[in-house]
Amino acid sequence: MDGEPDLYIAGTWRHASDGGTRDIINPADGSVAAVVDEATPGDAREAVAAARASFDDGAWRATPIAERAALLDRIADLLQRDKEELATLETRDTGKTLAESRIDIDDVTSVFRYYAKLVGADGDCRVVDVGDPAVISRVIREPIGVCVLIAPWNYPLLQMSWKIAPALGAGCTMVAKPSEVTPLSTIAFVHLLEEAFQEFAVPAGVVNLVQGSGAVLGEALTASADVDFISFTGGLATGQTISKTAADNVTKVAVELGGKNPHIVFADVRGTGDGGGWDAAGDRGLTGVFLRSGQVCSAGTRLIVEESIADEFVAAVAARAAKITMGDGMNPASETGPLVSEQHRAKVEAYVELGISEGATLITGGARPTDPALAKGSFYLPTIFDRCDRSMRIVQEETFGPILTVERFTTEAEAIALGNDTEYGLAAGVRTSDMARGERVVRALRHGTVWLNDFGYYTASAEWGGFGKSGNGRELGPTGLAEYQEMKHIWHNTAPTAAGWFKN
Ligand code: NAP
Repeated sequence: MDGEPDLYIAGTWRHASDGGTRDIINPADGSVAAVVDEATPGDAREAVAAARASFDDGAWRATPIAERAALLDRIADLLQRDKEELATLETRDTGKTLAESRIDIDDVTSVFRYYAKLVGADGDCRVVDVGDPAVISRVIREPIGVCVLIAPWNYPLLQMSWKIAPALGAGCTMVAKPSEVTPLSTIAFVHLLEEAFQEFAVPAGVVNLVQGSGAVLGEALTASADVDFISFTGGLATGQTISKTAADNVTKVAVELGGKNPHIVFADVRGTGDGGGWDAAGDRGLTGVFLRSGQVCSAGTRLIVEESIADEFVAAVAARAAKITMGDGMNPASETGPLVSEQHRAKVEAYVELGISEGATLITGGARPTDPALAKGSFYLPTIFDRCDRSMRIVQEETFGPILTVERFTTEAEAIALGNDTEYGLAAGVRTSDMARGERVVRALRHGTVWLNDFGYYTASAEWGGFGKSGNGRELGPTGLAEYQEMKHIWHNTAPTAAGWFKN
């Protein structure tokens, strides 16, 4: 950053081989937050080769599991030590508020702590009875090999940590590529990793870092026969491209993609039973979509509300949406920050135009804020469209901005049908005071995470991922570790005999 080398390849920091750099823009005011090295495809190939050489050398994967677990714990300690620095970089880079960035760093820490425990406790061997006492048959887990880890811009370090922590714990080597828009926290984090690696004598080439344009580096990272696994988080179109490219080498790919997440509110939220509550439902409906200005893959962008309460409920949410305080994420008074870039704001604005042309009723927002203090940033007002229906593109496509669409239903079956009427299937929320109904509806919804009387939470120990076009594979939880492991069956005959099948 700012003149220091930013590419980390084979244990050495270096500049891009062609001297290329990129300005990283602070979306709160359009200023240049940092200048970073921009890798070339040749640099990316070198990073893959370094990861390959390190894996094939075998030293890292032979490191005792307890030592790998201790390393993950040490990384967690260093994350807490450097929390303010990392959170500040995340805010400058993404625009999110410092409070959110601090939560992100705590979450990153919890991911490393979780995998430290899981890896350390992992019974890495299963004995199988094959019916012959002379045979010792066992299934062991081995690291999958060289991993390419590609992350998006909305939760830069958090999404990367969901990959790096299990990959390290499993004994893999890797090349990490953050989004070209938001590389700063990942660069700082790899410096932190280097410190931990020195303490634990981790061999060179276990973690490599390149940043730059995905379109330019993608081929070098994903079409290589030296890569054993690609873990990608980002948009659907990119995930499709990577999956197709990787297919030539039959490289395993896990893609975590977008979402168009329903939040279903039943009229009985007025009730006083378990988990009901009008205010909580409205508040989570608001937060579920407008936190981080809607730039969250699991944002509750589709409010699906029972007709009998819809007018009053939507009016209450809209009134609060209009009062959200926007501003620079470094200002403690800001409740939400800008969109990540001018380019992204233009995409969101195009969706608002589309919603209007599709006949949805704009009830709040639909414009840039008029506050002169926000004029240089890529801010956009929380926007709500009422009277939407499933034929509209703003209801079906991921807008990835502060846009809430409202659909109405009259029966439980209709609510479920609406909730499942999306090509995605990442997350959903259900609000009701009738717990029997709540259980029926959460089970009927085809989404990877479903919140009943809550919205937006996840934990390192529970799997995260999507149904449908929200992706395949899972991150976090035991499955998030298993993605980075191969299962090997070892059949050991302790009393070898001839098969005797062929007579001559
Ligand atoms: P994106 O445009 O698909 O980019 C994601 C990453 O892929 C970036 O690092 C990007 O690099 C890189 N990339 C682009 N083209 C590539 C190629 N041809 N080969 C290899 N890598 C390539 O997504 P985004 O706009 O950064 O992120 C927003 C999306 O991520 C949304 O759809 C959101 O829902 C999704 N997301 C999903 C989850 C989840 O858990 N399911 C979590 C967070 C975000 P550049 O930045 O240089 O283009």
